[in-house]
Amino acid sequence: MKRDDGTLTIEDCPAPMLAERFGTPLYVYSRAAIESAWRAYDQAFAAFDHQICYAVKANGSLAILQLLARLGSGFDIVSGGELARVMRAGGDPGKVVFSGVGKTEAEIEQGLSAGILAFNIESEAELERINAVASRTGQTAPVSLRVNPDVDARTHPYISTGLKENKFGIDIHGAEALYHRAAAMPGISVSGMDFHIGSQLTELEPLADALSRSLALVDRLEAAGIHLAHLDIGGGLGIRYDDETPPTPAALAERLGPLLAGRRQTLLMEPGRALVGEAGLLLTRVEYLKPGHRDFAIVDAAMTDLLRPALYNAWQGIETAEPVDAEARLYDVVGPVCESADTLGRERSLALVPGTLLAIHATGAYGFVMASQYNARPRPAEVLVDGDRVHLIRERESLEALWQGEHLLDTP
Ligand SMILES: *Cc1c(COP(=O)(O)O)cnc(C)c1O
Repeated sequence: MKRDDGTLTIEDCPAPMLAERFGTPLYVYSRAAIESAWRAYDQAFAAFDHQICYAVKANGSLAILQLLARLGSGFDIVSGGELARVMRAGGDPGKVVFSGVGKTEAEIEQGLSAGILAFNIESEAELERINAVASRTGQTAPVSLRVNPDVDARTHPYISTGLKENKFGIDIHGAEALYHRAAAMPGISVSGMDFHIGSQLTELEPLADALSRSLALVDRLEAAGIHLAHLDIGGGLGIRYDDETPPTPAALAERLGPLLAGRRQTLLMEPGRALVGEAGLLLTRVEYLKPGHRDFAIVDAAMTDLLRPALYNAWQGIETAEPVDAEARLYDVVGPVCESADTLGRERSLALVPGTLLAIHATGAYGFVMASQYNARPRPAEVLVDGDRVHLIRERESLEALWQGEHLLDTP
Protein backbone atom coordinates (compact mmCIF):
# COMPACT_ATOMS: atom_id res chain seq x y z
CA MET A 1 0.00 0.00 0.00
CA LYS A 2 1.37 3.37 -0.93
CA ARG A 3 0.26 6.94 -1.56
CA ASP A 4 0.91 9.14 -4.57
CA ASP A 5 -0.25 12.74 -4.15
CA GLY A 6 -2.86 11.65 -1.62
CA THR A 7 -4.17 8.74 -3.69
CA LEU A 8 -3.98 5.39 -1.94
CA THR A 9 -2.80 2.54 -4.14
CA ILE A 10 -3.06 -1.18 -3.41
CA GLU A 11 -0.28 -2.92 -5.35
CA ASP A 12 -0.77 -1.16 -8.73
CA CYS A 13 -4.47 -0.34 -8.32
CA PRO A 14 -5.59 3.11 -7.17
CA ALA A 15 -8.28 2.90 -4.50
CA PRO A 16 -10.58 5.47 -6.24
CA MET A 17 -10.58 3.32 -9.39
CA LEU A 18 -11.60 0.24 -7.36
CA ALA A 19 -14.35 2.18 -5.57
CA GLU A 20 -15.65 3.52 -8.86
CA ARG A 21 -15.68 0.12 -10.50
CA PHE A 22 -17.01 -2.06 -7.68
CA GLY A 23 -18.83 0.42 -5.45
CA THR A 24 -18.49 0.88 -1.70
CA PRO A 25 -18.27 -0.44 0.94
CA LEU A 26 -15.64 -2.71 -0.59
CA TYR A 27 -13.11 -5.08 0.93
CA VAL A 28 -9.78 -5.02 -0.93
CA TYR A 29 -7.00 -7.56 -0.38
CA SER A 30 -3.45 -7.67 -1.71
CA ARG A 31 -2.42 -11.05 -3.04
CA ALA A 32 1.28 -10.23 -2.61
CA ALA A 33 0.77 -9.24 1.03
CA ILE A 34 -1.03 -12.49 1.88
CA GLU A 35 1.54 -14.62 0.10
CA SER A 36 4.50 -12.86 1.62
CA ALA A 37 3.03 -13.13 5.13
CA TRP A 38 2.51 -16.89 4.67
CA ARG A 39 6.03 -17.35 3.27
CA ALA A 40 7.58 -15.35 6.10
CA TYR A 41 5.96 -17.71 8.60
CA ASP A 42 6.95 -20.76 6.61
CA GLN A 43 10.56 -19.65 6.20
CA ALA A 44 10.88 -18.69 9.86
CA PHE A 45 10.23 -22.31 10.81
CA ALA A 46 12.20 -23.86 7.93
CA ALA A 47 14.58 -25.55 10.35
CA PHE A 48 11.70 -27.57 11.83
CA ASP A 49 9.49 -30.25 10.37
CA HIS A 50 6.40 -28.04 10.35
CA GLN A 51 2.99 -27.33 8.85
CA ILE A 52 1.12 -24.04 8.86
CA CYS A 53 -2.62 -24.54 9.45
CA TYR A 54 -4.18 -21.17 8.60
CA ALA A 55 -7.07 -20.30 10.94
CA VAL A 56 -9.99 -20.08 8.52
CA LYS A 57 -12.15 -18.07 10.90
CA ALA A 58 -9.94 -15.00 10.31
CA ASN A 59 -11.04 -14.82 6.66
CA GLY A 60 -12.73 -17.75 4.96
CA SER A 61 -13.34 -16.34 1.49
CA LEU A 62 -12.83 -19.11 -1.05
CA ALA A 63 -10.24 -17.33 -3.19
CA ILE A 64 -8.12 -16.60 -0.15
CA LEU A 65 -8.29 -20.22 1.01
CA GLN A 66 -7.39 -21.22 -2.55
CA LEU A 67 -4.30 -18.96 -2.57
CA LEU A 68 -3.13 -20.43 0.73
CA ALA A 69 -3.87 -24.01 -0.30
CA ARG A 70 -1.73 -23.49 -3.42
CA LEU A 71 1.16 -22.36 -1.22
CA GLY A 72 0.88 -25.67 0.65
CA SER A 73 -1.01 -24.41 3.66
CA GLY A 74 -3.09 -26.55 5.95
CA PHE A 75 -6.10 -25.16 7.80
CA ASP A 76 -7.41 -24.81 11.33
CA ILE A 77 -11.20 -24.98 11.29
CA VAL A 78 -13.87 -24.46 13.94
CA SER A 79 -16.97 -25.79 12.18
CA GLY A 80 -18.22 -28.17 9.53
CA GLY A 81 -18.99 -25.13 7.41
CA GLU A 82 -15.33 -24.13 7.45
CA LEU A 83 -14.32 -27.68 6.48
CA ALA A 84 -16.71 -27.52 3.52
CA ARG A 85 -15.22 -24.16 2.49
CA VAL A 86 -11.66 -25.50 2.68
CA MET A 87 -12.55 -28.47 0.50
CA ARG A 88 -14.48 -26.30 -1.96
CA ALA A 89 -11.38 -24.11 -2.29
CA GLY A 90 -9.14 -27.10 -3.03
CA GLY A 91 -7.57 -27.42 0.42
CA ASP A 92 -6.15 -30.77 1.54
CA PRO A 93 -8.28 -32.26 4.36
CA GLY A 94 -5.22 -34.27 5.42
CA LYS A 95 -3.74 -30.95 6.58
CA VAL A 96 -6.81 -29.82 8.54
CA VAL A 97 -7.04 -29.57 12.32
CA PHE A 98 -10.49 -29.15 13.84
CA SER A 99 -10.70 -26.83 16.87
CA GLY A 100 -13.68 -25.52 18.82
CA VAL A 101 -15.50 -26.40 22.03
CA GLY A 102 -18.85 -27.48 20.59
CA LYS A 103 -18.33 -30.00 17.77
CA THR A 104 -21.62 -31.69 16.90
CA GLU A 105 -21.96 -35.36 15.95
CA ALA A 106 -22.58 -34.35 12.36
CA GLU A 107 -19.40 -32.26 12.34
CA ILE A 108 -17.38 -35.11 13.83
CA GLU A 109 -18.70 -37.48 11.15
CA GLN A 110 -17.86 -34.90 8.50
CA GLY A 111 -14.29 -34.58 9.80
CA LEU A 112 -13.83 -38.34 9.97
CA SER A 113 -15.07 -38.97 6.47
CA ALA A 114 -12.91 -36.14 5.10
CA GLY A 115 -9.85 -37.74 6.77
CA ILE A 116 -8.65 -34.70 8.68
CA LEU A 117 -5.24 -34.57 10.37
CA ALA A 118 -6.55 -34.16 13.93
CA PHE A 119 -9.43 -33.17 16.15
CA ASN A 120 -8.29 -30.67 18.74
CA ILE A 121 -10.17 -31.90 21.81
CA GLU A 122 -11.46 -29.26 24.19
CA SER A 123 -13.16 -31.39 26.89
CA GLU A 124 -13.53 -34.89 28.28
CA ALA A 125 -17.13 -35.06 27.07
CA GLU A 126 -16.01 -34.21 23.54
CA LEU A 127 -13.36 -36.96 23.65
CA GLU A 128 -16.04 -39.47 24.65
CA ARG A 129 -18.35 -38.32 21.90
CA ILE A 130 -15.64 -38.57 19.25
CA ASN A 131 -14.71 -42.05 20.47
CA ALA A 132 -18.36 -43.09 20.25
CA VAL A 133 -18.89 -41.66 16.76
CA ALA A 134 -15.64 -43.16 15.44
CA SER A 135 -16.34 -46.57 17.00
CA ARG A 136 -19.86 -46.63 15.61
CA THR A 137 -18.56 -45.95 12.10
CA GLY A 138 -15.60 -48.32 12.40
CA GLN A 139 -12.97 -45.59 12.25
CA THR A 140 -10.28 -44.22 14.53
CA ALA A 141 -10.13 -40.50 15.13
CA PRO A 142 -6.72 -38.85 15.39
CA VAL A 143 -6.84 -36.48 18.35
CA SER A 144 -4.78 -33.81 19.96
CA LEU A 145 -5.73 -32.51 23.41
CA ARG A 146 -5.95 -28.74 23.59
CA VAL A 147 -4.33 -28.02 26.91
CA ASN A 148 -5.06 -24.83 28.74
CA PRO A 149 -1.64 -23.90 30.12
CA ASP A 150 -3.03 -21.20 32.44
CA VAL A 151 -0.83 -18.39 31.17
CA ASP A 152 -1.94 -14.82 30.80
CA ALA A 153 -1.57 -13.79 27.17
CA ARG A 154 -1.83 -10.13 28.24
CA THR A 155 -4.16 -9.27 25.41
CA HIS A 156 -7.78 -8.06 25.32
CA PRO A 157 -9.94 -10.20 27.67
CA TYR A 158 -12.36 -11.00 24.84
CA ILE A 159 -9.60 -12.60 22.80
CA SER A 160 -7.62 -14.20 25.62
CA THR A 161 -8.18 -17.95 25.84
CA GLY A 162 -5.31 -19.48 27.81
CA LEU A 163 -6.34 -18.76 31.40
CA LYS A 164 -8.02 -21.40 33.49
CA GLU A 165 -11.20 -19.31 33.74
CA ASN A 166 -11.65 -19.44 29.93
CA LYS A 167 -13.98 -21.96 28.31
CA PHE A 168 -11.22 -23.21 26.02
CA GLY A 169 -9.03 -26.26 26.37
CA ILE A 170 -8.41 -28.81 29.11
CA ASP A 171 -6.76 -27.76 32.32
CA ILE A 172 -3.14 -28.80 31.88
CA HIS A 173 -3.09 -30.45 35.29
CA GLY A 174 -5.93 -32.78 34.36
CA ALA A 175 -4.73 -33.42 30.83
CA GLU A 176 -2.29 -36.22 31.71
CA ALA A 177 -5.02 -38.47 33.10
CA LEU A 178 -7.18 -37.73 30.07
CA TYR A 179 -4.33 -38.72 27.71
CA HIS A 180 -4.20 -42.08 29.47
CA ARG A 181 -7.94 -42.53 29.06
CA ALA A 182 -7.77 -41.48 25.41
CA ALA A 183 -4.96 -43.93 24.68
CA ALA A 184 -7.19 -46.78 25.85
CA MET A 185 -10.21 -45.80 23.75
CA PRO A 186 -10.84 -48.01 20.71
CA GLY A 187 -12.05 -45.18 18.46
CA ILE A 188 -9.20 -42.81 19.29
CA SER A 189 -5.60 -42.55 18.17
CA VAL A 190 -3.66 -40.06 20.26
CA SER A 191 -1.63 -37.96 17.86
CA GLY A 192 -0.75 -34.62 19.38
CA MET A 193 -1.01 -31.77 21.84
CA ASP A 194 -2.03 -28.22 21.15
CA PHE A 195 -2.64 -24.89 22.78
CA HIS A 196 -3.85 -21.49 21.67
CA ILE A 197 -3.64 -18.84 24.36
CA GLY A 198 -5.21 -15.84 22.69
CA SER A 199 -5.15 -13.45 19.80
CA GLN A 200 -3.39 -10.20 18.91
CA LEU A 201 -0.41 -11.21 21.09
CA THR A 202 2.28 -8.57 21.20
CA GLU A 203 4.68 -10.39 23.51
CA LEU A 204 6.46 -13.72 23.12
CA GLU A 205 6.88 -14.71 26.76
CA PRO A 206 3.33 -16.01 27.26
CA LEU A 207 3.81 -18.27 24.22
CA ALA A 208 7.19 -19.49 25.42
CA ASP A 209 5.66 -20.18 28.83
CA ALA A 210 2.79 -22.12 27.34
CA LEU A 211 5.20 -24.14 25.22
CA SER A 212 7.45 -25.01 28.19
CA ARG A 213 4.49 -26.17 30.25
CA SER A 214 3.20 -28.25 27.36
CA LEU A 215 6.62 -29.81 26.69
CA ALA A 216 6.91 -30.87 30.32
CA LEU A 217 3.65 -32.77 29.83
CA VAL A 218 4.88 -34.23 26.52
CA ASP A 219 7.89 -35.60 28.40
CA ARG A 220 5.77 -37.17 31.14
CA LEU A 221 3.61 -38.82 28.49
CA GLU A 222 6.69 -40.12 26.63
CA ALA A 223 7.92 -41.69 29.85
CA ALA A 224 4.57 -43.42 30.19
CA GLY A 225 4.73 -44.74 26.64
CA ILE A 226 2.37 -42.23 24.99
CA HIS A 227 4.17 -40.81 21.98
CA LEU A 228 2.86 -37.74 20.21
CA ALA A 229 3.35 -37.14 16.50
CA HIS A 230 2.72 -33.41 16.53
CA LEU A 231 2.82 -30.38 18.72
CA ASP A 232 0.57 -27.46 17.78
CA ILE A 233 1.44 -24.02 19.13
CA GLY A 234 -1.77 -22.32 17.98
CA GLY A 235 -1.94 -18.90 16.41
CA GLY A 236 -2.30 -15.49 17.90
CA LEU A 237 0.61 -13.37 16.68
CA GLY A 238 -0.56 -9.78 16.59
CA ILE A 239 -0.50 -7.28 13.76
CA ARG A 240 -0.09 -3.52 13.63
CA TYR A 241 -3.39 -1.68 13.95
CA ASP A 242 -1.97 1.50 15.50
CA ASP A 243 1.47 1.68 17.08
CA GLU A 244 1.81 -1.92 18.26
CA THR A 245 5.10 -3.65 17.51
CA PRO A 246 4.09 -7.31 17.41
CA PRO A 247 6.84 -9.92 17.15
CA THR A 248 7.62 -11.24 13.68
CA PRO A 249 7.37 -14.96 12.88
CA ALA A 250 11.18 -14.96 12.77
CA ALA A 251 11.33 -13.62 16.33
CA LEU A 252 8.78 -16.24 17.38
CA ALA A 253 10.87 -19.02 15.83
CA GLU A 254 14.01 -17.66 17.46
CA ARG A 255 12.38 -17.58 20.90
CA LEU A 256 10.76 -21.02 20.65
CA GLY A 257 13.55 -22.74 18.70
CA PRO A 258 15.79 -23.61 21.66
CA LEU A 259 12.81 -25.09 23.54
CA LEU A 260 12.01 -27.32 20.58
CA ALA A 261 15.53 -28.49 19.79
CA GLY A 262 15.84 -32.25 19.53
CA ARG A 263 12.08 -32.90 19.46
CA ARG A 264 10.73 -35.38 16.94
CA GLN A 265 7.22 -33.97 16.77
CA THR A 266 5.97 -32.17 13.69
CA LEU A 267 5.32 -28.58 14.64
CA LEU A 268 1.91 -27.23 13.70
CA MET A 269 0.86 -23.60 13.96
CA GLU A 270 -2.46 -21.90 13.44
CA PRO A 271 -1.92 -18.25 12.49
CA GLY A 272 -4.96 -16.37 11.24
CA ARG A 273 -4.76 -12.62 11.75
CA ALA A 274 -1.00 -12.47 11.13
CA LEU A 275 -1.41 -13.88 7.60
CA VAL A 276 -4.29 -11.78 6.30
CA GLY A 277 -4.99 -8.89 8.67
CA GLU A 278 -2.69 -6.25 7.23
CA ALA A 279 -3.33 -7.45 3.67
CA GLY A 280 -6.86 -6.07 3.62
CA LEU A 281 -8.64 -2.73 3.81
CA LEU A 282 -12.22 -1.59 3.68
CA LEU A 283 -13.11 1.26 1.33
CA THR A 284 -16.06 3.41 2.31
CA ARG A 285 -17.44 6.77 1.21
CA VAL A 286 -18.63 9.69 3.28
CA GLU A 287 -22.37 10.12 2.81
CA TYR A 288 -22.94 13.12 5.09
CA LEU A 289 -21.05 15.42 7.38
CA LYS A 290 -23.04 16.31 10.49
CA PRO A 291 -21.46 19.07 12.57
CA GLY A 292 -22.52 19.71 16.15
CA HIS A 293 -21.46 18.98 19.70
CA ARG A 294 -19.41 16.24 18.09
CA ASP A 295 -18.62 16.28 14.39
CA PHE A 296 -19.90 13.12 12.71
CA ALA A 297 -18.82 11.71 9.38
CA ILE A 298 -21.57 9.31 8.34
CA VAL A 299 -20.14 6.74 5.94
CA ASP A 300 -21.64 3.94 3.87
CA ALA A 301 -19.85 1.16 5.81
CA ALA A 302 -21.22 0.06 9.16
CA MET A 303 -20.80 -2.33 12.05
CA THR A 304 -22.55 -4.84 9.79
CA ASP A 305 -19.50 -4.74 7.48
CA LEU A 306 -16.79 -4.37 10.13
CA LEU A 307 -17.79 -5.45 13.62
CA ARG A 308 -14.48 -5.21 15.48
CA PRO A 309 -14.86 -1.62 16.74
CA ALA A 310 -18.37 -2.37 18.11
CA LEU A 311 -17.53 -5.84 19.45
CA TYR A 312 -14.10 -5.28 21.00
CA ASN A 313 -13.89 -1.51 21.07
CA ALA A 314 -11.04 -2.15 18.63
CA TRP A 315 -9.11 0.69 17.04
CA GLN A 316 -8.78 0.61 13.24
CA GLY A 317 -6.75 3.15 11.29
CA ILE A 318 -8.87 5.37 9.03
CA GLU A 319 -7.50 7.69 6.37
CA THR A 320 -8.60 9.40 3.20
CA ALA A 321 -7.88 7.41 0.05
CA GLU A 322 -7.93 10.34 -2.37
CA PRO A 323 -6.85 14.00 -2.31
CA VAL A 324 -9.36 16.30 -0.57
CA ASP A 325 -9.54 20.06 -0.50
CA ALA A 326 -10.76 20.63 3.05
CA GLU A 327 -9.48 21.43 6.54
CA ALA A 328 -8.81 18.55 8.90
CA ARG A 329 -11.22 18.30 11.86
CA LEU A 330 -11.89 15.70 14.52
CA TYR A 331 -14.65 13.40 13.32
CA ASP A 332 -16.47 10.43 14.79
CA VAL A 333 -16.74 8.11 11.81
CA VAL A 334 -20.08 6.33 12.07
CA GLY A 335 -22.23 4.04 9.96
CA PRO A 336 -25.94 4.26 9.10
CA VAL A 337 -27.10 1.40 11.37
CA CYS A 338 -29.59 2.25 14.11
CA GLU A 339 -27.26 1.48 17.02
CA SER A 340 -24.99 3.83 18.94
CA ALA A 341 -22.36 1.08 18.80
CA ASP A 342 -22.19 1.66 15.06
CA THR A 343 -19.04 3.75 15.33
CA LEU A 344 -16.00 2.81 13.26
CA GLY A 345 -13.61 5.34 14.77
CA ARG A 346 -13.79 8.17 17.32
CA GLU A 347 -12.15 11.60 17.16
CA ARG A 348 -10.17 11.01 14.00
CA SER A 349 -8.40 13.92 12.41
CA LEU A 350 -9.58 13.86 8.80
CA ALA A 351 -10.03 16.36 5.96
CA LEU A 352 -13.43 15.47 4.50
CA VAL A 353 -16.15 16.61 2.16
CA PRO A 354 -19.30 14.62 1.36
CA GLY A 355 -18.30 11.84 -1.05
CA THR A 356 -14.71 11.50 0.18
CA LEU A 357 -13.34 7.98 -0.14
CA LEU A 358 -11.88 6.54 3.08
CA ALA A 359 -9.80 3.45 3.74
CA ILE A 360 -10.11 1.51 7.00
CA HIS A 361 -6.83 -0.31 7.40
CA ALA A 362 -5.86 -3.76 8.63
CA THR A 363 -9.30 -5.24 8.05
CA GLY A 364 -8.25 -8.42 6.24
CA ALA A 365 -8.85 -10.53 9.39
CA TYR A 366 -12.11 -10.69 11.35
CA GLY A 367 -13.62 -8.26 8.85
CA PHE A 368 -15.91 -9.70 6.21
CA VAL A 369 -16.28 -12.98 8.15
CA MET A 370 -18.19 -11.15 10.87
CA ALA A 371 -20.40 -9.22 8.44
CA SER A 372 -24.17 -9.51 8.85
CA GLN A 373 -27.31 -8.34 7.10
CA TYR A 374 -28.65 -6.48 10.16
CA ASN A 375 -30.85 -3.56 9.08
CA ALA A 376 -31.29 -5.50 5.80
CA ARG A 377 -27.92 -4.37 4.54
CA PRO A 378 -26.49 -6.50 1.72
CA ARG A 379 -22.96 -7.60 2.61
CA PRO A 380 -20.14 -5.86 0.72
CA ALA A 381 -18.15 -7.11 -2.26
CA GLU A 382 -14.56 -8.35 -1.94
CA VAL A 383 -11.77 -7.92 -4.50
CA LEU A 384 -8.27 -9.34 -4.62
CA VAL A 385 -5.62 -7.15 -6.22
CA ASP A 386 -2.72 -8.85 -8.00
CA GLY A 387 -0.37 -6.24 -9.48
CA ASP A 388 -2.53 -4.25 -11.86
CA ARG A 389 -5.16 -7.01 -12.08
CA VAL A 390 -8.29 -7.12 -9.96
CA HIS A 391 -10.32 -10.24 -9.22
CA LEU A 392 -13.85 -9.87 -7.94
CA ILE A 393 -13.76 -12.71 -5.40
CA ARG A 394 -17.20 -12.06 -3.93
CA GLU A 395 -20.05 -10.14 -5.51
CA ARG A 396 -21.89 -7.52 -3.54
CA GLU A 397 -25.02 -9.17 -2.18
CA SER A 398 -28.16 -8.47 -4.16
CA LEU A 399 -31.42 -7.40 -2.57
CA GLU A 400 -32.90 -10.79 -3.54
CA ALA A 401 -30.12 -12.46 -1.52
CA LEU A 402 -31.53 -10.73 1.56
CA TRP A 403 -34.52 -13.09 1.57
CA GLN A 404 -32.94 -16.14 0.00
CA GLY A 405 -34.38 -19.27 1.61
CA GLU A 406 -37.27 -17.41 3.25
CA HIS A 407 -40.88 -18.39 2.68
CA LEU A 408 -44.02 -16.31 2.82
CA LEU A 409 -46.98 -18.01 4.48
CA ASP A 410 -49.08 -19.87 1.96
CA THR A 411 -52.22 -19.86 4.11
CA PRO A 412 -54.57 -16.89 4.45
C1 LIG B 1 -8.82 -17.95 16.50
C2 LIG B 1 -7.92 -19.11 16.59
C3 LIG B 1 -6.69 -19.10 15.92
C4 LIG B 1 -6.19 -17.92 15.12
O1 LIG B 1 -5.97 -16.81 15.91
P1 LIG B 1 -5.23 -15.52 15.28
O2 LIG B 1 -5.16 -14.58 16.40
O3 LIG B 1 -6.10 -15.04 14.18
O4 LIG B 1 -3.91 -15.96 14.80
C5 LIG B 1 -5.90 -20.23 15.99
N1 LIG B 1 -6.29 -21.31 16.71
C6 LIG B 1 -7.47 -21.36 17.37
C7 LIG B 1 -7.83 -22.57 18.12
C8 LIG B 1 -8.31 -20.25 17.34
O5 LIG B 1 -9.47 -20.30 18.01
